[in-house]
Amino acid sequence: MTTIARPASDVATLRRLLDGEHAEMRDRVREWLSRPGNIPTADRPLDEYRDQVLAWAKELADDGQTATGFPVEYGGEGAVGRSIAAFETMAFGDLSLLVKIGVQFGLFGGAVLHLGTEKHHERYLRAITSLELPGCFAMTETGHGSNVQALETTATYEPETQEFVVDTPTEAAGKDYIGNAARHGRMAAVFAQLIVGGEERGVHALLVPIRDERGEPLPGVRIEDCGAKLGLDGVDNGRLYFDHVRVGRDALLDRYAQVSPDGEYTSTIENPTKRFFTMVGTLIQGRISVCGAAINASKVALVIAIRRGLTRRQFGPPGGEEAVLLDYRTHQRRLLIPLATTYALHFAQERLVAELHEVFTAPDGGEDRKRRELETLAAGVKAIGTWHATHTIQECREACGGAGYLRANRFAALKADTDVFTTFEGDNTVLLQLAAKNLLTDFRDQFGELDPLGMAQFYAGQLLGTVAERTAIREVLGRLGDDLRPGRDDSAELLDRATQLELFTWRQEHILSGAARRLKGGIDAGGDPFAVLVDTQDHVVDAARAWVDLVVLEAFAEAVERCEEPAVKPVLDTLCNLYALSRIEAERGWYQEHGRLSSTRSKAVIKAVNALCGEVREHAELLVEAFGVPEPALGDGGAVAAAVEGQV
Ligand SMILES: Cc1cc2nc3c(=O)[nH]c(=O)nc-3n(C[C@H](O)[C@H](O)[C@H](O)COP(=O)(O)OP(=O)(O)OC[C@H]3O[C@@H](n4cnc5c(N)ncnc54)[C@H](O)[C@@H]3O)c2cc1C
Repeated sequence: MTTIARPASDVATLRRLLDGEHAEMRDRVREWLSRPGNIPTADRPLDEYRDQVLAWAKELADDGQTATGFPVEYGGEGAVGRSIAAFETMAFGDLSLLVKIGVQFGLFGGAVLHLGTEKHHERYLRAITSLELPGCFAMTETGHGSNVQALETTATYEPETQEFVVDTPTEAAGKDYIGNAARHGRMAAVFAQLIVGGEERGVHALLVPIRDERGEPLPGVRIEDCGAKLGLDGVDNGRLYFDHVRVGRDALLDRYAQVSPDGEYTSTIENPTKRFFTMVGTLIQGRISVCGAAINASKVALVIAIRRGLTRRQFGPPGGEEAVLLDYRTHQRRLLIPLATTYALHFAQERLVAELHEVFTAPDGGEDRKRRELETLAAGVKAIGTWHATHTIQECREACGGAGYLRANRFAALKADTDVFTTFEGDNTVLLQLAAKNLLTDFRDQFGELDPLGMAQFYAGQLLGTVAERTAIREVLGRLGDDLRPGRDDSAELLDRATQLELFTWRQEHILSGAARRLKGGIDAGGDPFAVLVDTQDHVVDAARAWVDLVVLEAFAEAVERCEEPAVKPVLDTLCNLYALSRIEAERGWYQEHGRLSSTRSKAVIKAVNALCGEVREHAELLVEAFGVPEPALGDGGAVAAAVEGQV
């Protein structure tokens, strides 16, 4: 089998389509990553690596590249979408630099921008975007990561001095894993339980200086270095402890809640849980950025492995030439299904960024409903996108055999550095529960008054009754339709986009209604609400996963529909079929269990996936070259493939 010779213009056309409206920004980052001094290199000593990463970040800040997403009045461009495009593209390069940038400009800068008010913006934003003020986002504690509402650090207001006293009451309340804390950070956005007039007001953020100009910890601040990690060693993660550290009243990031000089607490959002979720909801950009970065890191791995698969030869017919690896069906399945999924996720991410831009540039900060939709989408796509990166990079490493194991080929760094993407910016399993919670109700605001137990009771209430009823009807209709449909084992029908979307939709609704019924049934039977919630958790998470699959397919299908380039549209269409059918294949046991696929049809799905792999293989080179990963960013991975090519 041969690769179809493609004119360079097809690669350019497809790249233009992938790069979308921020192509110029992506090219600017590609150019920066291609400069000799900016190429990722393995095995630097820890301190040297951290200094290099800081120097890179400063260079980018001096060049004005890190302010893009900030408001014009503070030296930025107010271009959220463009700034995420730049961040995603940085993921082709050194991932410690990516995360350092994420911490400084996304997390620390984002907290000041979104949780602070004009006085904070005036005072700090320029210094943050220029990196004159390196800072931290100090949310996680040793004792609590995912459960942010249970943080133990306190910030107690004293009307006499008009100060907040920030304190770490126990070792477990120490801030942990905090990026920029071990060496470079001079200030931290600290998340703490706010206490005003003796009353606990829940988690709020305050700006707390942690180091002086010389880099020494300030009085009352203890700082520890987390040391070497599994990856991202160019980022100085550390621990922060506060011993009754005093900060002025203005230190409170007070967009959503204010404390008057004499100690009166006010907030326009009365419900504390709703207030908390509104505050953390504004920080969603980091989650979306990490998702885009994970997808782009997958692209780097795929370029290396597919190039190698197209040139490396092993075995072959007796007496004949050895075959290239990508002609083997297993190799095609291992690499081309992740390739199709990467494209699918790319378009889902594009949709996510567009929605973020819309919500964050709306004059009033966007309606609640839109924000909730964005939160659900971001949680779900981040979870699936970062897991996809972990699995894809591993598969690509294995597909390169021993060569993939050499550090110079970038897989070591890609694997180690992206691994934690599944954990930070929200642990994936926890995020899927969040997505499911949003899916299970159209009235999220009502959750504000409910703790987890109340939430389970709420699930069990009339609302889910309605969901279950609606989808139960659909199930019956779906089954009838399936039984009556002629030619149901015809594989041509499987390639029909409407059929694919219908199968994804049916699965998502079926699982969601099933989870709802189980929650309701458990409570109706007198079960302990928390125990019922725990017992149903796998089902709830499955509902979110199935929903993300649907959203991703919709995004890919829309992109194919939109494409007006005759040279690449059919290729994308085939790739979309591969994504859709590979997901159905992966879930074929479920579809069979639920009477939606006969065993004959299930086998037809496998056959169709194989055939599609064969078709996509012909376009594999085009599909990876269109990613536009700068050659130097491939490390020796690019060279390994090229060297092998020279031999054959
Ligand atoms: C390299 C690195 C950099 C980081 N940078 C920062 C930073 O700059 N600032 C910051 O504030 N934080 C940072 N973090 C912390 C990160 O956000 C947390 O690690 C993350 O939120 C998870 O919290 P945890 O580690 O306490 O895990 P836990 O919450 O203890 O979770 C452990 C496991 O339990 C599971 N689990 C938890 N709750 C449930 C549940 N209800 N149901 C089922 N399963 C559950 C999770 O899925 C997970 O697998 C960083 C972490 C790392 C590793």
